[in-house]
Amino acid sequence: LNRPSMLQGAIVGMTVCRLWISQGAAAAPGTVKHCERVTYFASFASQLCRFAAASYLCELVMLAVPERAPAPALYDHLVSSLDAIGRARQPVAVAIASELGALSLLGLTPTFDRCAECGKGEIAAPARFVVESGGVVCPACLSKKDVGPGGRTVVKLAAGTLAFAKTALDKPVGSLCNARVSSGLGKELMRLLLLYKHHHLQIELRSARLLQGCLRRDTR
Ligand SMILES: [Zn+2]
Repeated sequence: LNRPSMLQGAIVGMTVCRLWISQGAAAAPGTVKHCERVTYFASFASQLCRFAAASYLCELVMLAVPERAPAPALYDHLVSSLDAIGRARQPVAVAIASELGALSLLGLTPTFDRCAECGKGEIAAPARFVVESGGVVCPACLSKKDVGPGGRTVVKLAAGTLAFAKTALDKPVGSLCNARVSSGLGKELMRLLLLYKHHHLQIELRSARLLQGCLRRDTR
């Protein structure tokens, strides 16, 4: 980071660029004809927690979207999230909130406001989130025995965690710059998101450990 480049600029953590790519033959890769920098985030190069939060979201989009698959809404969400991380009071909180929004744009919205199995509304806290069902589950559905081989992965969520997750799904990420999580809430949601991504997307983010380290640092 910050190593002087041959272009007399500096390497910055994340840059949004517009590329003009000429299409090659059907199977050949295209050639970059022109590149224009739209914006960059200077604070990511010097502030570890902002860099960790930004890396986490970029890695999520990189792994969750197949190469060359258009996902304009998700990329717009990513750029808004990077901008919010640059201004955030607690970058880790914005990263977690933004990840929930990204999952929603991928068609994998986790359910926090009603039972994911029978649709019954308002689940009392602490709620039980069933990863395989994609949301919180009411006591009646949770006690059903017909869960198939392997059983279910159940994560207990406190009232504060449910409230944070609902807000993150309801509001645009740009309005969440002042969002904060406690150490316990952050850990609970990060663990849930790790299991959720593993089951529904079969991915694991390498930058998750870096973000966990920043969660400890940010909530001391
Ligand atoms: Zn139910």
